[in-house]
Amino acid sequence: MGNFIDKTLDDPTYWRSIILFGRNVASYKFALARSLVEVVRNNDDLVRLDDLAEPFARHICQHIKDAPVQATSKSSRFLEACQNFNDGHIDATQLRDTTVRLGFNNVIDAFHVVNGDDVPTRFFLDERKTNGGIRLTTAAFNLLNENMVGTLDSEVQSRWRLVETAWELNMNRNLISVKHDTDSHTLFVDKENHRINVTSARDALNGYQKGHCFFCFAPISLTQIALQPDVDHFFPHVLGSYDHKTNYDGVWNLTLSCRDCNRGENGKFAKLPSLKLLERLNTRNEFLITSHHPLRETLIQQTGRSPADRIRYLQRQFDNAKSILIHEWEPEQLGPERF
Ligand SMILES: [Zn+2]
Repeated sequence: MGNFIDKTLDDPTYWRSIILFGRNVASYKFALARSLVEVVRNNDDLVRLDDLAEPFARHICQHIKDAPVQATSKSSRFLEACQNFNDGHIDATQLRDTTVRLGFNNVIDAFHVVNGDDVPTRFFLDERKTNGGIRLTTAAFNLLNENMVGTLDSEVQSRWRLVETAWELNMNRNLISVKHDTDSHTLFVDKENHRINVTSARDALNGYQKGHCFFCFAPISLTQIALQPDVDHFFPHVLGSYDHKTNYDGVWNLTLSCRDCNRGENGKFAKLPSLKLLERLNTRNEFLITSHHPLRETLIQQTGRSPADRIRYLQRQFDNAKSILIHEWEPEQLGPERF
């Protein structure tokens, strides 16, 4: 059957994707993560907002001292309260009450969302309406055990520091990217993230796809404006922010896609194409190599000398991408399978 196997994801991966991936508009997610690390030690699964408020606000207050900018929006009444506490204008009880009222408005809902959807594992349940707090799950207790908790907490802390650095320098999120070095397990900032112009690949790729979208087989055309395809990164370009070693602009990773697949209502965006589509990408690359296509040497240089090397290469890319992007994508197929 197929050459590829689906990657099994585990709870530490989901937790890391929550911390590492996603658009941060405020540092609340980091504060909540660090608070979870603390309250899990109490061994009570129900954590009332009164009790969650203390560590949550304390972490924000500590960070505000070093980095005043903790959100991309201009004003937040909760952040103002934290500043007022630091300045001695309100006491701990007032800070706690404000935190309960305002501090958790979005972060409890948004905590588990990665790349537009919830991760499959929940580390807490929202029981604010029924029990006035959140309920930690078995997954949280299992994950945040003595062996893991130190590592995970320092990862949250370093990610938080990097994000506030970006805000402090007033840099565009697209220009400053936090990368995860999978060998050394460190995070770092790379300011030289740039995108290579890939439109010149159109002609070369259309020869193989013969006027059909790589993903759904809908008709595409290089000459008719309405049917003009997008040059699509099979493994989404955003992965370059997390993995600095891979050339995602390489031909091995480029396909021609109809606009619906690339950016339509149910389009791919930053989701990961399914294994079936990965198989199709491998078949395409192998075809270009064995047919002595002009791109042959480029493809070999980018992905490996033998067919087995190239399968291993794509499998590694898939594993890495899935652990970051989590969600797979496959469009409805329009018309017969063509390649
Ligand atoms: Zn399509």
